[in-house]
Amino acid sequence: MPSPSSTQSHIMGVYSRAGLAFERGEGVWLTSTTGERYLDAVAGIAVNALGHANPVLIEALTAQAHKLWHVSNIFQIPEQEALAKRLTDATFADVVFFTNSGTEAVECALKTARKYFAHKGQPERIDIIGFDGSFHGRTYAAVNASGNASYLEGFGPRLPGYLQIPFGDMAALKAALGPTSCAVIIEPVQGEGGARVLSDSQLREIRQLCSDAGALLIYDEIQCGLGRTGKLFAHDWAPGSEPDIMCVAKALGGGFPVGACLATTEAASGMVFGTHGSTYGGNPLAMAVGCAAFDLLNDEALLDHVKSVAGYLTQQLSGLKDRYPDIIEDLRGKGLLIGIKIKPNNREFMQMARDEHLLIAGGGDNCVRMLPPLNITLDEARELIARFEATCDRARKAATA
Ligand SMILES: *Cc1c(COP(=O)(O)O)cnc(C)c1O
Repeated sequence: MPSPSSTQSHIMGVYSRAGLAFERGEGVWLTSTTGERYLDAVAGIAVNALGHANPVLIEALTAQAHKLWHVSNIFQIPEQEALAKRLTDATFADVVFFTNSGTEAVECALKTARKYFAHKGQPERIDIIGFDGSFHGRTYAAVNASGNASYLEGFGPRLPGYLQIPFGDMAALKAALGPTSCAVIIEPVQGEGGARVLSDSQLREIRQLCSDAGALLIYDEIQCGLGRTGKLFAHDWAPGSEPDIMCVAKALGGGFPVGACLATTEAASGMVFGTHGSTYGGNPLAMAVGCAAFDLLNDEALLDHVKSVAGYLTQQLSGLKDRYPDIIEDLRGKGLLIGIKIKPNNREFMQMARDEHLLIAGGGDNCVRMLPPLNITLDEARELIARFEATCDRARKAATA
């Protein structure tokens, strides 16, 4: 089979793709179209949180596929009620809107927040405040809310009512909050921005500042949520920091496209009949997989496992940082959302990792990220470290060659 780059592609060129395609996966392993096995610490960017070809998810998908795939949201969808009940039982939220992606969950969150104030007779409250380096998706409102100006370039004027402040700058946040504030949107642990973590006390302070200013707090837990940090949600590490609205996606379908916007009854009070909708969002097929994935993820034993494997990886990586100070600059992240700020170019380093048959992701601030499936075994974690060390070795040799 020709390599993907050697043929004329009919796909829009918006991605920088490695010259590698896969045929099958099992757990943390991917097999390429040329029959080579790779250890997958990208996991679809935190999507395949339960590993590839998870038998429980396959069973849920195929059982539902034989019954009913799709019906319109003009009918009752019991499978939606089932997943919404799980999500609200496990969180601050009372109600859920289902989407097919993360960015749609963010759109719903932003619309919910704006509508809340319009509905309450405060239409002047439109300002959405976010942090530099944040990523909230690629649709129009989401790129305006994201803290990366390059995503907006060439797409027309910036939408009014979106502000960015320096990451974690509490004084700037306090100054930005005022009578026209609608909501603060943050990732408790930044993903694309390079695995930057907000401390528990910062999260609580942000919650307090929002409450004091009468603004809503939106968490984007699309990447850091659903067990990734060793708690069901990243903000669960900071009791008292609960948001009014939260976006989830990625791991929620374990590879099937599902997203959700969760809210309290109060925050969702403007979202009445006719204000929002989706053709596919929450269809029975997606919900069946979502319920099965959620039940596997919302499990203390799995969350304990995440904490212990993450502890092992962090300890090993700090050993590597000591031995490779010329390669590794800084370790970041939380749980199995691991960021490694490196000195060589991160794109080149990712290629060297692929040469060691290890798949890792990039990130802002010249980071590489590891987001392996949450059920990665300790033996596989050892193998991951061995391959990462070999990659550091390659990078050192390349630098001194
Ligand atoms: C991936 C991601 C999104 C966007 O999700 P899509 O499914 O790609 O639309 C939004 N926010 C965060 C934090 C993400 O990691």
